[in-house]
Amino acid sequence: MEIVFSEPLHRQLERALAGDEERGAALLLQHDPISDRFLVQEAVIAEEGDRLHATATEITFAPQFLVRVTRLARSSGRSLALIHSHPSGCLEFSRTDDRTEAGLVEFLRDRNPTGFSFSLVLCDGQILARRVGVDERLPVRIVGSRVTVMRERAEKPDGEQYDRQIRAFGGAGQKIVSSLTVAVVGLGGTGSVAAQQLAHLGVRNFVLIDPDVIEKTNLNRVVGTAPDSVGQAKIDTAAVLIKSIQPEASVQRIQRSVTAKEAIEALRMVDCVFMCTDSHVSRALLSEFSYQYLVPAFDVGVSINAHEGKVEAVTGRTQMVCPGLPCLWCSHVLSPHRIREELMTEQQRAADPYFNEGGERQPAVISINSTMVSMAVTMFLGAFTAIPVEARWQSYDALSGKVRPLSAKPDPACGVCGKDGVLGYGPSKNLSLADLEGR
Ligand SMILES: [Zn+2]
Ligand SMILES: [Zn+2]
Repeated sequence: MEIVFSEPLHRQLERALAGDEERGAALLLQHDPISDRFLVQEAVIAEEGDRLHATATEITFAPQFLVRVTRLARSSGRSLALIHSHPSGCLEFSRTDDRTEAGLVEFLRDRNPTGFSFSLVLCDGQILARRVGVDERLPVRIVGSRVTVMRERAEKPDGEQYDRQIRAFGGAGQKIVSSLTVAVVGLGGTGSVAAQQLAHLGVRNFVLIDPDVIEKTNLNRVVGTAPDSVGQAKIDTAAVLIKSIQPEASVQRIQRSVTAKEAIEALRMVDCVFMCTDSHVSRALLSEFSYQYLVPAFDVGVSINAHEGKVEAVTGRTQMVCPGLPCLWCSHVLSPHRIREELMTEQQRAADPYFNEGGERQPAVISINSTMVSMAVTMFLGAFTAIPVEARWQSYDALSGKVRPLSAKPDPACGVCGKDGVLGYGPSKNLSLADLEGR
């Protein structure tokens, strides 16, 4: 069980609950039964009349506020959390908190018999969480361009093997990397390199998703392959590569499209996703997924334009998508035209006069792929460890040799990452491009 905040909502709460007196809010959470994560979807700030009284060390919510928010939670099938600030700087539940909660246990249970209720304390940006009436801390995660996981980690990584990178991002950073579950979607020219680098970094838990097998034309760039790999599933070759580096690694292999129910269910359990697929359908789905389930993703794109044997442009793009950063739609990297083409059947393609891209092999070169993947993996370290890597969107022009950082905010009108977007909706909404079969 874990509570997950998006960075924008966490920031909004920090602002709204600031002050010398304790302030509070009610949070409405979507439960994902697969990951057992509770996604904070909405905050209802307790205004002046919603607090019976508030001092520097105490807050009492007005009964009508509690009635209002419990009703809201129940009618929308969501769980409820009450959060309050500790301006005193004390990151602990106080005795007063214990007493107030004891008085609320029954009230909350009666009004939301199926849902869980939580009690949270916000102090200097840090959050403590527990179930109401249960004195046991729950882990809290804040997902944005930085991902903060507040919990104790028992596992200790092997110091000597990682000595050179612990010098770069510290023992705590290494511990985080070793504890993460990372999905790689697409195990071709970029995904195989991502898997290799992540295994060397110490990632031990992988989810690999790709429906394809290795073809002869892949051997120029898919790392871990040899001539006798032709015909093997890409996920299998990647799994062997990961195990050769990290024998203890756990690797879940899914030989399906990422739009399949099985693939999406596996993604709901992970800490982050590497999008290493050319497909616009897959990338549109993963981008939406990232906001809806609060799971950050790293998109890697490479393009080589050659016309009549002459290379005109060689460019790459590495971009993190997560709450607080623009999605792939408002970054203008997805093409509705391409999505339409990809969703067509063979017959529809044959009959469509505008169909042009299918079947034509795009140029692909291992050095360009590896450059963009390396940027994505460094970005991943910047997001999860204390290493101060700021870039979250970079473009590369191989002809001029220029790497440019880009920055943009989510478009407030965007239906995915904007104000009325899907942040924290979790399983309460179907993903637009997911396969409907088997639901
Ligand atoms: Zn308190
Ligand atoms: Zn957007």
